[in-house]
Amino acid sequence: MKELVIISGKGGTGKTSLCASFAILSGRCVVADCDVDAADLHLVLSPKVQRHESFTGGRRARIKAGHCIACGKCEELCRFDAIFFDGPGNGRVDRTFRVDPPACEGCGVCAWFCAEKAIECAPVISGEWFVSEARCGPMVHARLGIAESNSGKLVSLLRQQARQLAEQKGIELILVDGSPGIGCPVIASLTGAGLVLVVTEPTPSGEHDLKRVVELVRHFGIALAVCVNKWDVNPGMSERIEAYCRSESIPVAGRIRYDRAFTHAQVQGRTVVEAAEDGVAEDIRSLWRAVAPGGWLSW
Ligand code: SF4
Ligand code: SF4
Repeated sequence: MKELVIISGKGGTGKTSLCASFAILSGRCVVADCDVDAADLHLVLSPKVQRHESFTGGRRARIKAGHCIACGKCEELCRFDAIFFDGPGNGRVDRTFRVDPPACEGCGVCAWFCAEKAIECAPVISGEWFVSEARCGPMVHARLGIAESNSGKLVSLLRQQARQLAEQKGIELILVDGSPGIGCPVIASLTGAGLVLVVTEPTPSGEHDLKRVVELVRHFGIALAVCVNKWDVNPGMSERIEAYCRSESIPVAGRIRYDRAFTHAQVQGRTVVEAAEDGVAEDIRSLWRAVAPGGWLSW
């Protein structure tokens, strides 16, 4: 079983659209949408949900107003400024303290130190995850609640599910649409992968973020390749990025031109490789021939 992870240093480089096209070109694979903070692969692959589960990602404090004596210890100790002195009165004090749920990180310090045992820090449902069937094969994806954290934990869960599905169904390829950036969800997206494809764009921020993500992938000792999307928007910058890759011995797997066909296909709920044969669709096919298992990158 092989696992190809597609990431980008910054958002908006076309990573998800490429992943969807690769899924179609692969014929059959397990797809995991691990960009859980902004999941949108389902918009193009239109999966039919077969199973959904709640995701319990962390804990959150709640003050039991009836037990609070308004000593203020919890507010003093909370390093996330998540506790406020505007809760209801309870017969002993006019006002009690309360927790602002989105600000609470669930560290449990307040509950530990409350002498009145007035705080409970309980698990919370942060979102849901799905096992679906898309037109390219099984798909795992998720919906994280607004302002919910623990996306790294959710990414790990999705990848574990993707591997189980691949094993059960005898599917040889897992395609992972990873998160942008270099934080916890990205690390959870790429550890253990066979190949990481970094999608960048020819802009100063694209170049800057590419270098950060290259450092991260190398830290984990994973093979990587780069492709420049919309390369013809700034050919000089594209050449500079590719020169950097050559100097670092990073394979440049391909270039993708800017083409509105990409967006038009998405508006129709299709990938560009289903909607067109030439132009940008041919660029993506060529890129796929490089990064596919058994392709010229030989991973
Ligand atoms: S530490 Fe406990 S008793 Fe004191 S203000 Fe906080 S919740 Fe109330
Ligand atoms: S659990 Fe931690 S973050 Fe949440 S309110 Fe208590 S001290 Fe603050």
